[in-house]
Amino acid sequence: MQDIRQVFKNIPLGQRIPAFGYAVKSKDSKFEKFSFTRHPMGEKDIVIEILFAGICHSDIHSARSEWHAGIYPMVPGHEIAGRVVAIGSKVSKFKVGDYAGVGCMVNSCGKCDACKRSQEQFCENGQCVFTYNCQDCFHNNEPTYGGYSNNIVVNEHFAVCVPKDAPLDKVAPLLCAGITTYSPLKFSGVKKGDKVAVAGFGGLGVMAVKYALAMGAEVYVFARNRNKEKEALNLGVTKLFDSTQDIKERFNLIISTIPTSYDPMEYINLLKFGGELAIVGLPPREVSPDINITNLVYNAGRKVYGSLIGGMQETQEMLDYSLRHKIYPETEIIRADQIDEAYENLTSGKAKFRYVIDMQTLQD
Ligand code: NDP
Ligand code: ZN
Repeated sequence: MQDIRQVFKNIPLGQRIPAFGYAVKSKDSKFEKFSFTRHPMGEKDIVIEILFAGICHSDIHSARSEWHAGIYPMVPGHEIAGRVVAIGSKVSKFKVGDYAGVGCMVNSCGKCDACKRSQEQFCENGQCVFTYNCQDCFHNNEPTYGGYSNNIVVNEHFAVCVPKDAPLDKVAPLLCAGITTYSPLKFSGVKKGDKVAVAGFGGLGVMAVKYALAMGAEVYVFARNRNKEKEALNLGVTKLFDSTQDIKERFNLIISTIPTSYDPMEYINLLKFGGELAIVGLPPREVSPDINITNLVYNAGRKVYGSLIGGMQETQEMLDYSLRHKIYPETEIIRADQIDEAYENLTSGKAKFRYVIDMQTLQD
């Protein structure tokens, strides 16, 4: 394989950066090899050679236009870990050779209240640029391309620092699955002895379980079958339920990571007074659940909120916390030509937790 560090030595500043990866050309197509270019490196940008990219269920929703019409060709991937191969003249956080991670965002205005509070995902000027399937308002509205590729150019603010001894294949999924579950647990202030339930026990769900256990909670899982009961109990989960019917326990917090149609009231009904339902799962638009207002009012005293990834400061905090406590995702490493198979397994229930693409297999 060509040494990417040599390639970057020879790219003059201001020149577009050649990249290649795997893309889908339409919502129904399979992944194909795809060559493209990325915007030139700006003075606050870094270029990362991507070594591992996780497959999030959001990638499937996006590639198949399940939320809204996608921008094609689409290179998904927002769980990115790799090595810094070039830095702009005003970069201060990284040097060439460092490890870095990128999640769901690559830029934002940096000036509004949300950005100043490091809640960049809620940029009040609508300038949060998502890692792929987004028009980059800072670069002539060109489409962004994600992590199923050999490199990425990103503003250093949107890259997290990864220590040299960290397992990069495990770090990648933390950049979305990790932060998306860590953030609501912190937001809800989970503490020792709280009863926390996690609905949907996949890539995000297993991270929610691990963080909740680390925070001292008593943890339960709601799944659609008992296939992963052993894994749940081995992690320290008290009980796995395969239905919401006839449940006696009541919970302080339920996190729903469910990516399919379901009735949120079934979970709201299981909250203690003052309990909270945090929704992170984003089912396809056509089957997006509604909440029955009458039932909600008669179940008053419970809170329901949505949660979207987490800001950059919290993402670095999550990464440091995960590495310190050795909280890692459950991963299976695959080759770049196995993405279609992984998608199939993730939608048919055959997958266990997180697939991570070894990007060194891209050119094989
Ligand atoms: P996965 O496919 O890895 O996991 C989903 C899990 O939910 C699977 O274990 C699946 O079961 C289970 N499941 C499906 N339907 C039900 C049901 N009706 N009841 C209980 N469990 C069910 O997906 P991810 O964890 O990667 O993502 C989950 C969702 O979160 C997606 O919608 C994704 O788009 C969204 N997301 C949201 C983010 C945010 O910021 N809010 C960020 C990242 C993701 P089985 O094992 O049988 O397949
Ligand atoms: Zn994701």
